[in-house]
Amino acid sequence: MVVLTGAGISAESGVPTFRDAQTGLWERYRPEDLATPEAFARDPELVWRWYAWRRELIGGVEPNAGHRALADLENRVPRFTLATQNVDGLHRLAGSRDVLELHGDISRTICSRERVTVDLEGLQGEPPVCPGCGAYLRPDVVWFGEALPVEAFEMAREAAHESDVFLSVGTSSLVQPAASLPDAALAGGATVIEINPEPTPLTPHADYALRSPAGETLPALLPAHGGA
Ligand code: NAD
Repeated sequence: MVVLTGAGISAESGVPTFRDAQTGLWERYRPEDLATPEAFARDPELVWRWYAWRRELIGGVEPNAGHRALADLENRVPRFTLATQNVDGLHRLAGSRDVLELHGDISRTICSRERVTVDLEGLQGEPPVCPGCGAYLRPDVVWFGEALPVEAFEMAREAAHESDVFLSVGTSSLVQPAASLPDAALAGGATVIEINPEPTPLTPHADYALRSPAGETLPALLPAHGGA
């Protein structure tokens, strides 16, 4: 079994999806205009402050029943792969052990030149600069137009192709190349199940489309507590 999750699984934890209306301070910016290397080059302070706001928001939320159900499934299914487009770390917090993070993790910071992880403790500036080389620091996330971590994506693609069951949960299936993973599963003959209250480009190709929130649907897929 392979599961691909997107921002929708964290919506019930209170993390806004990119396509939700942005609130307050940030409502006049489109995430597509902030989450790019070009935006960072143009206005590093603006991009840094947006990520600092999102990091703070994410720091205050908890995993929900959907994340917990997937952590539970990992213990029940012999070959199970969880790949996520989320950067919020909520799968790990819910107890999932092996998570392929296709788009990075917002809690980590890297040097924009050397790509090494840097501890933010004691550093000032918006953005702070790398203590090693002086380049700006940035969040360790994959921006629109950037390449995904090759190894994690290849593992997800191979697992999808070999899978019997593929679950697409809370993703708009618009952001490539993650959106190609269900295609790999379909090409390999898997049963593809989508869990999303809204239709997506994947819906017509999925074997089943369950139109309800992930936090309700995923726990309902598990056998009753203590069952087989
Ligand atoms: P998206 O914002 O494009 O789409 C979210 C999808 O979730 C929508 O199709 C929506 O209908 C669905 N959805 C909303 N509430 C749901 C619920 N309760 N249950 C199930 N589905 C629900 O998100 P995406 O497809 O993940 O792609 C956007 C990009 O934004 C990704 O690259 C991701 O890294 C990034 N992102 C991450 C987070 C996060 O880490 N939590 C949040 C926002 C954006």
